Amino acid sequence: MCVIGAGVAGLLVAERAVAAGLDVLVLDAAAVAGGCVARHEVAGLALDAGAESFATRVPAVADLARDLGLEADIVAPDPTGAWIAHRDGTWPLPRAGLLGIPTDLDDPALRAALGPAALDRVRRDAIDPIPAELRPGAAAPTSLGELVRRRMGEQVLDRLVRPIVSGVHAADPDQLDPQTVAPGLLAAMADTGSLAAGVARLRGTAKAGSAVASIRGGMHRIVDALVHRIQDAGGRIRTGTPVTGLRRSGDGWEVTAAAPGQPARTRTVLADRVVLAAGAGAAIPLLGSALPSLADLPTPVGAPVTLATLVLRCPALDAHPRGTGVLVGADMAGVEAKALTHATAKWDWLAQTAGPGTHVLRLSYGRPGEHAARYADDAHVLETARHDAGVLLGLGRDGIDAAAVLDGDVVRWPGALPAAGLGHAGRVARIRTAARAAGTGRGALAVVGGWVAGNGLAAVVADSRAQAAQIFDDL
Ligand SMILES: Cc1cc2nc3c(=O)[nH]c(=O)nc-3n(C[C@H](O)[C@H](O)[C@H](O)COP(=O)(O)OP(=O)(O)OC[C@H]3O[C@@H](n4cnc5c(N)ncnc54)[C@H](O)[C@@H]3O)c2cc1C
Repeated sequence: MCVIGAGVAGLLVAERAVAAGLDVLVLDAAAVAGGCVARHEVAGLALDAGAESFATRVPAVADLARDLGLEADIVAPDPTGAWIAHRDGTWPLPRAGLLGIPTDLDDPALRAALGPAALDRVRRDAIDPIPAELRPGAAAPTSLGELVRRRMGEQVLDRLVRPIVSGVHAADPDQLDPQTVAPGLLAAMADTGSLAAGVARLRGTAKAGSAVASIRGGMHRIVDALVHRIQDAGGRIRTGTPVTGLRRSGDGWEVTAAAPGQPARTRTVLADRVVLAAGAGAAIPLLGSALPSLADLPTPVGAPVTLATLVLRCPALDAHPRGTGVLVGADMAGVEAKALTHATAKWDWLAQTAGPGTHVLRLSYGRPGEHAARYADDAHVLETARHDAGVLLGLGRDGIDAAAVLDGDVVRWPGALPAAGLGHAGRVARIRTAARAAGTGRGALAVVGGWVAGNGLAAVVADSRAQAAQIFDDL
């Protein structure tokens, strides 16, 4: 079996495959396995360079961590939560919501962030009947933005949902398909009679502020554990090996890849089953050549994300002035970052590792519609991050001295968060139908990854496991 792409999706299926006794070859274009779950070192600290947490609304990632022997290292973030910043002020983020959609309308933080008039508009959500076009199975899909606007009003969308969605999905909520970014929400809303109650049902019994968790030492430990599992069981992982072609060959597949370290030379691998786990940019052309009925698929694009990490000695931050971080509204003047994570405030294990007085800040850049070239220069990005952090953490633009910065790093993720645009769920159903028609068991072609399952490890892990079951259904 050949797995194309060694992100979490590909590694997970590969791990299931070696456990089922298959001979597995994983090919990845990058220099290291893991995709968006990556590690970097800043000021001697091993930090997550991409995903740093996982949603706990579904048990998928915690189950995986348990399977990998990491259960004892699952950690909850500091319960103080994050803040939200707009031109007219900075407030603690209302708790217990989903993508900024509130559930507790009596939360004082919600009143502070919205003001009384906007809060009155939100309350109509509990009264207005749910129209047919906002119910599951409506003829034309409604975007997440339109859903929030119609149920709770423009203020909730602009002041809460848009900044959070811009941080999590690098996309505008008016472009996103709620069925992919919040699966089950439309059905829960139809059942409960309001958007707030629907979100509350989806969140289940999760406590306020504990919607995510992480792994002590960093999420990248999951990748390390998966890689070891695969290799220990005889699976092979070849990095620096971009796949350039995929086509039917007899009852199996012919995979063409660059020779390791020699991009101009290619080699061909014959595989009885293929798992396409590369990101959308690479997967869609390969899918089109493997299954010509899918040659017209559009490539979902997301804003290119640039992350600036600063490690600082700054006693003024010891009090965690903005909790675990700040989400930034697009109307906020004088700040380019769309989000700041105060990582040492959020994760106690990291604060312990960094030591007293040392702080790790992670600022995220790249709003929908912005060009990647704006953040092409590392030194400029790190300077911008230092000033933005000063403003967002209440210290002022020059409140963090250059001498306080022990080290910094910039990591770019172009195209790593593909936007699940309107109709995405329908396109995924089409892909899955075409792939299943190509066969299950021997001869199978499975398509996995964030661009089909929806961004986020919870969605990716749950979906990859379900797909893996189909490829091995003959074993
Ligand atoms: C900056 C950032 C922060 C994030 N934070 C979080 C978070 O905190 N919590 C959360 O749940 N999710 C987070 N996410 C999202 C989450 O990381 C992704 O949804 C998930 O990791 C996607 O996994 P994947 O395996 O589908 O894709 P990827 O991780 O994108 O892996 C795809 C792999 O395919 C390889 N590839 C590409 N082209 C080819 C080719 N031609 N041939 C072979 N291989 C190829 C790539 O090198 C890559 O290794 C974040 C994402 C980013 C970018």
